[in-house]
Amino acid sequence: MSKAESQQFFDNASSLGDMNAEDFRRYGYELIDWISDYLSHPEQYAVLSRARPGEFQSKIPSSPPAAGESMDAILKDVDKLIAPALTHWNHPSFFAYFAISASAPGIFGELLTAAFNVNGMLWRTSPAATELETVALSWLRQMMNLPQDFDGIIYDTASISTMHALAAARENLSLRIREDGMTGRENPLPLLRVYASEETHSSIEKAAITLGLGQRALRKIGVDQDYRMNAQALIQAIEEDRSAGTLPFCVVATVGTTSTTSIDPVREIADVCKHYNLWLHVDAAYGGSAAVVPEMRHVLDGCDMADSLVTNPHKWLFTPVDCSVLYCRHMDVLRRAFSLVPEYLRTNETEEVRNGMDYGIQLGRRFRSLKLWMVMRYFGHEGLAARIREHCRLARLFASWVEESKEWELLAPVPFSLVCFRFRPAHHQGEAEKDYRARLNQINETIMHAVNRTGEAYLSHTVLREELALRLAIGNIRTTEAHVRRAWELLNEHAAAQQ
Ligand SMILES: *Cc1c(COP(=O)(O)O)cnc(C)c1O
Repeated sequence: MSKAESQQFFDNASSLGDMNAEDFRRYGYELIDWISDYLSHPEQYAVLSRARPGEFQSKIPSSPPAAGESMDAILKDVDKLIAPALTHWNHPSFFAYFAISASAPGIFGELLTAAFNVNGMLWRTSPAATELETVALSWLRQMMNLPQDFDGIIYDTASISTMHALAAARENLSLRIREDGMTGRENPLPLLRVYASEETHSSIEKAAITLGLGQRALRKIGVDQDYRMNAQALIQAIEEDRSAGTLPFCVVATVGTTSTTSIDPVREIADVCKHYNLWLHVDAAYGGSAAVVPEMRHVLDGCDMADSLVTNPHKWLFTPVDCSVLYCRHMDVLRRAFSLVPEYLRTNETEEVRNGMDYGIQLGRRFRSLKLWMVMRYFGHEGLAARIREHCRLARLFASWVEESKEWELLAPVPFSLVCFRFRPAHHQGEAEKDYRARLNQINETIMHAVNRTGEAYLSHTVLREELALRLAIGNIRTTEAHVRRAWELLNEHAAAQQ
């Protein structure tokens, strides 16, 4: 296309259309240059933002500009004001929560998704968006070695995926809840019960709230010393509930819990679900990605018996936020729970195609499969596995330093790439056990804040059996052994200052 022709595609800025093509191209290159520099050196920023509350906002005009501003001015503010006030999840020493990555092919995918700007609510509103989702989810399913009858759908987050899974599980009871609701019914419902371990993610409880089941619908089951659901306690709870007139309908097992990445005994739980005819949903938001590594496939042992499973490519599969996959072997039930087609959305190819809007509460759907597909193509199964394998190696290496040190200890097993640990200086003579434990919690919290304040590394914490545990989570695509070593150095420096 000649310059003059491309000019015709866009009106120029003085009239009513979009930015002209020439400017789009120029700023596009400039922006890609900026992003490329940023991703090559995220360490130029403190990983945990040093911004104080309200500080950033005070630098941005509080009312909108009457006349449009230049892209130069806007991009300058991105560089000068926004980037310094972010916490940098791209930083290779981001070890808090679960570290994530927006890989380059994923970023390109997002860029194209924004540019195409299709709404994949129906197959016909963008055939490739619907069909690429099917392809991408089949590829991912094959990489994770899940059974072929696991069909799937992409949502934004695991919280939403799990909410839909619980809605399908409830629909599966055929209690006419979709039509009649749960309150004010002629034949009242018993309390519906969902089970999950004490270590389960808060999204399960939020799903119970959202679906009107109520928080009391969730019964938390105790865990063993390695923070895995106790299947015997689950059976006991189900038996108790049944004799009390409660209606058990769903169990949520977790592969990779949030605090410690423990793995519930899914096969045992699946047997219990089969026996009592309960829906088994697996929360593998973080841990599912590890099944891409051939020698780690065992982390999904028993998941072939699940009714649904959520995994988040935006967590540990190098796909930009947001992208969560719900696999389900009863898509018809999910559809029954949510399909509601107004006349203006009726199409004549309904029999042959999938319409994404039928499988959830939202009508409009972003083209999220594009970035996931591009990430899988660019790295390949082996490339993805190699990166996840390396993250696990680094976590084990860090754990070995903790174990070899007299003053530090591990607080949980390390099945993936997260290490839970703490500093444990000696008991003072005559110090009461209670005071010693309080002192350890205090010291570890102080060490964590001191390390985070350096801007060189960012760790988070959790509480395990009332003890404060530091969490070092490896998951960023740029993290190397040198970064993990530096974090260990920083921890030791700041621990020494505590003595
Ligand atoms: C991260 C995580 C979630 C929540 O994921 P979102 O996509 O942020 O909703 C749920 N469960 C587990 C086990 C997780 O690790």
